[in-house]
Amino acid sequence: MPPVEWSFDIRSGLLVGALLTLLIGVVLAVVARAMPAAFRPAMNWWVAATLLQPAGFVLLSQRDHLPAWVTIVVANACIAGAFAAYAVALRRFHRLTVPHGLLWGMVALAVAVSAWFGLVQYDLTKRLIAISIVLAWMLGYCAWTIYRGPDVRGLVRHVAGSAFLLAAIIMVYRAIALTWDPGQVIAVFQLTHVQLLTYAVGSILPVVATVGFLLLCTDRSQRDLERAARMDYLTDVYNRRAIEELGTRAIAGARRHGMPLALQVVDIDHFKRINDELGHAAGDLALVRAVERIRECLRAEDLLGRLGGEEFIVLMPNTDGASAAAAAERIRVAFSERPLDLRGQPRRVTLSIGVAVLAPADRLFSQLLQRGDRAMYAAKHAGRDLVMADAMSGWESPAD
Ligand code: GH3
Ligand code: MG
Ligand code: MG
Repeated sequence: MPPVEWSFDIRSGLLVGALLTLLIGVVLAVVARAMPAAFRPAMNWWVAATLLQPAGFVLLSQRDHLPAWVTIVVANACIAGAFAAYAVALRRFHRLTVPHGLLWGMVALAVAVSAWFGLVQYDLTKRLIAISIVLAWMLGYCAWTIYRGPDVRGLVRHVAGSAFLLAAIIMVYRAIALTWDPGQVIAVFQLTHVQLLTYAVGSILPVVATVGFLLLCTDRSQRDLERAARMDYLTDVYNRRAIEELGTRAIAGARRHGMPLALQVVDIDHFKRINDELGHAAGDLALVRAVERIRECLRAEDLLGRLGGEEFIVLMPNTDGASAAAAAERIRVAFSERPLDLRGQPRRVTLSIGVAVLAPADRLFSQLLQRGDRAMYAAKHAGRDLVMADAMSGWESPAD
C-alpha cells in the first residue's frame, strides 16, 4: 500500500502520546488515594502500566540517538511490560488469580523476538509482525478479563473493554497486513497507514482504558456502598431496613399472586449469658455461627435478616403456616441438639421462634411482624427452646 501523502511526524506523535499517558498516570496516582483501600493494589499496577508505556514510547522515539538495544529491546520490554501490568491490574480488580508466569513469559517473549530480529538477525518486518502478535495476545487478554469479570454493569465494562479489544484487533491487523505485504515498512517511523494506526491507538488506548478503569472502580465502590447499606455488617444478612423493605415487597407480591407468605421471628435464648460468661467477642462469633446454622435450614428463596441484637427474621414466600412452623421446628432442633462451635469451645444455644402468616387484614409489614414477635414472646414465656405460632397462622404450636 502507498505511504499516506500528508505530513505527520510519528516521532512527535509518539512523544505526545507518551506525555498524555504519563499525565493520566499521574492523575490516577492522585485519584487512587481517594479510592477504597481494596482497589489500591489494582490501581498501583495500573499506575505502573501508565508509567511504563510512555517510557517505552520515549525510548522508541530515540531510534537515532540511543543504542539499538535500548530503543528496540528495552522499549519493547517497557511496552509489553505495561500491557502485562494492565492485565495484572484487571485480574486483581476482579479478584481473579493472576497468572504472573504467563504474563511475564509473554513479556520475555517480546524481549526475545525484538532482540533476535533487532540485534541478531535484523529484520524490521518480521520484528513488527512478531511483536504485534505478542501484544495482540496481551491486549486481548485484558479485554477478555474485563468481559468475563463478575458483577460489572453492562455499559461500564465496554469503555475499557472495547479500548483493549480495538487495540488487539489493530495489532492482529498489523501482523496480517505486514505478512501480506512485507515490503511496506522500510523504517520504523515511515508514515504508512499501518504504523500510523498503531501509534494512534497506542496513544489513545491508555487514556480511554484508564477512564474505563476508573469507571469500573467507581461502579464497584457504589455497589459496595449500596450493599453495605442493606446488609448487617456482623452477620452479612439483611439489616432491619432492608428486611422491612423486602417484607413490604413480599406482601405486595403475595397479594398479587394470591400466594401465602410466612414469617419467623427467631430469638436466641439467654444470649446475654454468652456475653457475660465468654465475652462480647464470643457473643459476636455466636451470632455469626447461629446465622450459618439458620441458613443451612432454609430454602434458597427464604430471606434472612437481623432485626437487631440476637433477633432474626425469616421471610418465607409462598409458604403456609404449617410449612413455616415445620421449618421453624427444624431450625429449633438443629440448634438444641448440636452445640455451636465458638472457637473450639462448644456451646449449646437454644432458640425461641414465633411464626406468623400474612392475614387478609394485614396492610403493613409491621402488622405481620408484630404478630410474629408476639408468638416469639409466647415461646419465651412458655419456657424457651420452643416454636409458637400466631393464632391466625391456622396451625397449632407443638407446645399446645
Ligand atoms: P432471652 O432468652 O429472654 O431472649 O434473653 P437474652 O439474654 O437473649 O435477651 P436480652 O434481650 O436480655 O439480651 C440480649 C443481649 O444481646 C444483650 C446485648 O448485650 C446482646 N447483644 C446485642 N447485640 C449484640 C451484638 O451485636 N454482639 C454481642 N456480642 N451481643 C449483642
Ligand atoms: Mg434473646
Ligand atoms: Mg432479643
